[in-house]
Amino acid sequence: MKEVLKFGSMGDSTNLCLSCGLCCDGTLIGFVQLNREELPGLRELLNVEEATNDGVLIQPCNRYCGGCTIYSDRPKQCASYDCELLKSLQRKELDYTSAIETVEVAKQRKSAIEEKLALLQIKLQSQSFYFKMTELKKLYQKNEHELSSTPEFKELIADIKQLDSLLSERFGVTVF
Ligand code: SF4
Ligand code: SF4
Repeated sequence: MKEVLKFGSMGDSTNLCLSCGLCCDGTLIGFVQLNREELPGLRELLNVEEATNDGVLIQPCNRYCGGCTIYSDRPKQCASYDCELLKSLQRKELDYTSAIETVEVAKQRKSAIEEKLALLQIKLQSQSFYFKMTELKKLYQKNEHELSSTPEFKELIADIKQLDSLLSERFGVTVF
């Protein structure tokens, strides 16, 4: 979540996040927790869902557009979040090209999964990929979907597990 449109040095970390956006577009994260103190300033900027004492920003974020368009006003949780891929780059455990390749592979696998969901006409209620995976996992575990026993469904689940494995190993996040 280090996307910078308004200011900031364009180092490898910033460039990686600008090319990625997976923690803002609803792929890796389902929601961002907002503190009560932040709410007055963020209500006007974000699609905030409020509870008694706090609120959440449900992903995909309405302020993500190839980067964070409210960078200097973004929620505290956004400002403090660094995925493991970004940390590995910052620690120089991997180079920029490898990090970008990982992002591209993750995006390609995600797109392939979305295409299969559409092809199989599997209707899920959630907006974000993250919560779609939560929905699908419940159906899978309960063996409830009408397609559950088909080879196509099993192939879809295998693809999701492959993506999840990549996200876990490289980004430190699981979605399924
Ligand atoms: S998922 Fe990681 S690399 Fe991608 S935008 Fe978020 S912090 Fe940056
Ligand atoms: S406010 Fe900015 S950093 Fe936070 S989720 Fe939205 S686009 Fe990403």
